[in-house]
Amino acid sequence: MKIVLLGAPGAGKGTVAKLLSEIDSSVQVSTGDILRAAVKDGTDLGKKAKAYMDAGDLVPDSLIMEIMEVRLREDDCGRGFILDGFPRTIPQAEALEGLLDRLGIALDFVANLEVPRDVILDRLTTRRTCSNPECQEIYNIKSNPPTPDGMCKKCGSPVIQRDDETEEAILNRLETYNEKTAPLIGFYEGKGLLRNFVSLSSKDTVGEIKKTPREVLSS
Ligand code: ADP
Ligand code: ZN
Repeated sequence: MKIVLLGAPGAGKGTVAKLLSEIDSSVQVSTGDILRAAVKDGTDLGKKAKAYMDAGDLVPDSLIMEIMEVRLREDDCGRGFILDGFPRTIPQAEALEGLLDRLGIALDFVANLEVPRDVILDRLTTRRTCSNPECQEIYNIKSNPPTPDGMCKKCGSPVIQRDDETEEAILNRLETYNEKTAPLIGFYEGKGLLRNFVSLSSKDTVGEIKKTPREVLSS
């Protein structure tokens, strides 16, 4: 499948993307994961991105497009991809259109995950992430806790609260979403690509997305 996942921070894009990628070996492409790995590895990209990320601000479009130009040309994306956290602004969505055109690829659809704001807030403040950049399993201290001593059940690394998960950064991420990313809903609706999913359980949402007919859409 070739889809874009839209949704506020905490809407469950990462979990849904991971489950979808298991269905047909499409690859999950998460700009957040790519950026966090770059920060951890101390690459040039990571150094440029870190301050924006810690504050809950968006990384500049030009940097994101450099990453995505390279990533979408990699062989594994030929099996299909689930874009998780990208595009995040109208300029990114426009640049993605141009890139996909050049690659001769059409999106199946854009899945917009709709989750009430109080659910989102609760999820974000209780979210924890595996610190191993190869794993990055997501936990929730209420509904899906790590081991009693705070370790990842998959890889054994410490499970941490991300720097962008302080209350201040969370409120900033939500505001940034409303201002910069929510306009993409109208953008993709106008292109006939938008599908809305009220998403309270990731598993149910994946079931619904799976049932969605894929239209052959030329852009
Ligand atoms: P969330 O969706 O929970 O906010 P992500 O893991 O998708 O978190 O992204 C973490 C951070 O990485 C964002 O707050 C932002 O700083 C940066 N980021 C990720 N994807 C993009 C993007 N497409 N454009 C700009 N910044 C991005
Ligand atoms: Zn882990």
